[in-house]
Amino acid sequence: MLDRLQDTPPDALLALISQFAADERADKIDLGVGVYRTDDGATPVFEAVKGGERRLLDEQDSKSYLGPEGDKGFVKALMPIVFGADADTGDLIDGLQTPGGTGAVRLAVALAELAGVTRVHLGAPSWPNHVPIIEDVGLEAVTFSHSNDDGSADIDALLEVIRAGGEGDAVLIHACCHNPTGVDYSAEQWDAIADALSTSPVLPIIDSAYQGLGEGLEEDAAGLRKVLTKVPYALVAYSCDKNFGLYRDRVGAFYIKVAKADDMGPALSNAAALARANWSMPPDHGAATVRIVLSDEGLRKTWFTELESMRKRLRWVRAYLAGADNKVEGVPLAHLEEQNGLFAMLPLNKDQIGRLKTDHGVYMAGSGRINIAGLTKGNIDKFIAALADVAA
Ligand code: PMP
Repeated sequence: MLDRLQDTPPDALLALISQFAADERADKIDLGVGVYRTDDGATPVFEAVKGGERRLLDEQDSKSYLGPEGDKGFVKALMPIVFGADADTGDLIDGLQTPGGTGAVRLAVALAELAGVTRVHLGAPSWPNHVPIIEDVGLEAVTFSHSNDDGSADIDALLEVIRAGGEGDAVLIHACCHNPTGVDYSAEQWDAIADALSTSPVLPIIDSAYQGLGEGLEEDAAGLRKVLTKVPYALVAYSCDKNFGLYRDRVGAFYIKVAKADDMGPALSNAAALARANWSMPPDHGAATVRIVLSDEGLRKTWFTELESMRKRLRWVRAYLAGADNKVEGVPLAHLEEQNGLFAMLPLNKDQIGRLKTDHGVYMAGSGRINIAGLTKGNIDKFIAALADVAA
């Protein structure tokens, strides 16, 4: 029976990790896997998280099952961060804990399907797992162009999808720090998106996986909040894996916005049933730690400071690359400064990406995506010189 299975191609980025590890050059540069790195190239555990974990260790008195909704204290503690400290979410927004942002995207798409959605529109390129999740749930993934060649967002393409869409359509939008392009919508564009959605039957699914890594915690959530105040129904997939550095602990949340309080019970119970069928209940440790960090004034401040230093470093790398725009022929870098988050796309062909690896020890995704955080004060000049060499 199992002999019917055909090989499925390995994840290209994961294959890059082993190639990078096997490369013996001391000055090799890893721009592949999407994790934050310090200027020393490390991905350390946050001080705030260490503090939260210490308290968890002391205080936790049981590891008994919690249920498919996970740690509700975590879900509630995160809400002011996502929706705003002053937001009156009342009975109209609620959610449950999920295994990472991936679990939250899965629940969003699966709940949309239960509610009658048959197609999910999304800007391309997107996080490579979006389309597989949509299709695995049994829905059609329909792509539109996310950005223009000049590095701006293709807002017209998104607005057209929202205007033309009908019942049964959903649209998946990245809240900030778009993966893989770094191209986000401006404040005015978010106004237009929220207005268009307010008169459209298209269900918004907003994926927020990098809040705080772009322009600031508040700024990065502003678009999402605008949409939520204008639309009757929306789904939000949230990840704490980047902004708390908890990647392998799998910390996420799924929120539902409804038009009237009576809708919440059925929506949440269906989401819980889907969670139960998929993973029964989410892992506790990371979410419990985030709950402690967010509810302890000192740890919360430490987290803000750590997140700010990450954001500043990403902005420094972007500004530095933009400043080297005239050093690299044919690869525009100036717009990287206006873009946000961990990722950027460079318009390089396969041959150039291959030469960056073989001639210079620079490892990046075959799509041209680079992890901005892989660049440091120690390697950024070498990277710019390597780019100039392959682009010449
Ligand atoms: N959405 C987007 C846009 C992402 O980039 C990612 C992770 N890279 C996720 C969701 C999933 O996040 P997590 O690692 O928390 O599952």
